[in-house]
Amino acid sequence: MTATATPLPLLLEEIEAVRVERLSPSFVRVEFASPSLADFGVDGPLYDQRIKLIFPNAAGRLPSFESADDSWWETWLDIPEQERGAMRTYTVRAVHGSGADTRLVVDFVVHGEGEPSGPGGEWGAHAKVGDRVITMAPRRGVEFGGIEFSPGTAKRLLLVGDETAVPAVAAILECLHPTARGAVFLEVPVSADVLDLRAPDGVRVHWLPRDGGPRAEAIHAAVLEHLGEEPAALVVDDEEVDPDLWETPTYSSSGEDVDSALRVVGHEFDDLYAWIAGESSMVTGLRRALVKDLGIDRHQVAFMGYWRLGVAMRS
Ligand SMILES: Cc1cc2nc3c(=O)[nH]c(=O)nc-3n(C[C@H](O)[C@H](O)[C@H](O)COP(=O)(O)OP(=O)(O)OC[C@H]3O[C@@H](n4cnc5c(N)ncnc54)[C@H](O)[C@@H]3O)c2cc1C
Repeated sequence: MTATATPLPLLLEEIEAVRVERLSPSFVRVEFASPSLADFGVDGPLYDQRIKLIFPNAAGRLPSFESADDSWWETWLDIPEQERGAMRTYTVRAVHGSGADTRLVVDFVVHGEGEPSGPGGEWGAHAKVGDRVITMAPRRGVEFGGIEFSPGTAKRLLLVGDETAVPAVAAILECLHPTARGAVFLEVPVSADVLDLRAPDGVRVHWLPRDGGPRAEAIHAAVLEHLGEEPAALVVDDEEVDPDLWETPTYSSSGEDVDSALRVVGHEFDDLYAWIAGESSMVTGLRRALVKDLGIDRHQVAFMGYWRLGVAMRS
């Protein structure tokens, strides 16, 4: 295990796979352990807490963060790309145990033979007990960020995601109050990827397996129909898609000043909070439908491009 000299304001530690479970054709669950996870924690529910994982380089080696200080990020970037290992973003699906026995659970989306994949998906697909990665995760008592789910006083929820957002949606559902109301739409590669999720009685979960069909079309239509609209086809031009699309009630990757955006009042969706994550063109299409076409207030929506078809994510 890598030990840091003076504790950084976040965890930057090697963690080891102690349990690997193939949940379905496209999901592999890995339970990680490390005594350093005793210091993992956030103030309140985890919801969609994101973390970073660094995967070993081609030689199977991880960088060392021993004696890392505040300049660890620049130091890591200074290591040649082929040596430093790849960093990707994942969701804390669950946390089990406590103290030095704390286990961090991550659900990896894995891809079929011949499909494009990167270091994260590949690592998940071949993970075995004893394999190690480095995590950058919240240290208890220190603000880390990385939780976007923030419904405020909304009375009904709309959660939409593709397979990469299933772990986040599953974790959010487990944190909700039992009286929560709303609808969830989840697109997964195949019917066998439909998982058994725990959700409050008032939250209906709709699974939309592609089963060889096109990406995002069925989920786009289903969400529009749910909002009382004609289920129009999804048409998104490549140029329209920002691979780093990230818009929440407090931040916009386009630089828009969301905080001072006008509030929409007296709207039929006043009581709705929408959280939408997945492949960037799917999210772009729904952003257009909800904000531009339906006029839903920017303060009641979070649109997050978790990945982009054909693009390797930068850390
Ligand atoms: C906040 C957040 C939370 C996330 N949580 C999770 C999580 O819990 N589990 C999870 O599996 N992913 C999660 N993701 C998505 C994950 O970070 C991306 O899918 C990432 O691209 C995976 O890295 P990679 O090394 O496998 O592929 P990359 O090196 O980034 O990409 C290589 C190639 O694979 C393709 N590719 C990448 N992901 C997919 C995919 N899902 N389906 C098809 N092709 C793909 C790319 O388009 C590219 O062509 C999350 C992303 C964010 C931003």
